[in-house]
Amino acid sequence: LKKIEHIGIAVKNITDANAVFEALFDQPAYKSEVVDSENVDTTFYQIGDTKIELLSATSSDSAIAKFIDKKGEGIHHIAFEVDDIISEIERLKSKGFKIITDPPKKGADNKIIAFLHPKSSNGVLIELCQEIK
Ligand code: ZN
Repeated sequence: LKKIEHIGIAVKNITDANAVFEALFDQPAYKSEVVDSENVDTTFYQIGDTKIELLSATSSDSAIAKFIDKKGEGIHHIAFEVDDIISEIERLKSKGFKIITDPPKKGADNKIIAFLHPKSSNGVLIELCQEIK
């Protein structure tokens, strides 16, 4: 794991949340993207080397809708950048981590992604992401 690539924040209403985070960061989002495979609407902000991803559900069976129902809005996941997601998944599986997204799939922001089950990492949902080159 090379660095924290982004932190994902679950929000109820992405338009309202964008107004809040644009004011907080004093800059507009650099990208908005609907990810149909995940039923989410996303917005990305660049803060130095790291990004903040806002996620809202586009359907009630989205993982984000379920998360907000259970826990409310807030930090949803931490994403780490990797060079080779396949070998990193194998490494983590060999150490007993449970991978939710295996094989990995295409995510937002030009990335191949995989999620680790939060039960195997002390309640923290961890995303691995590899840039598509
Ligand atoms: Zn993410």
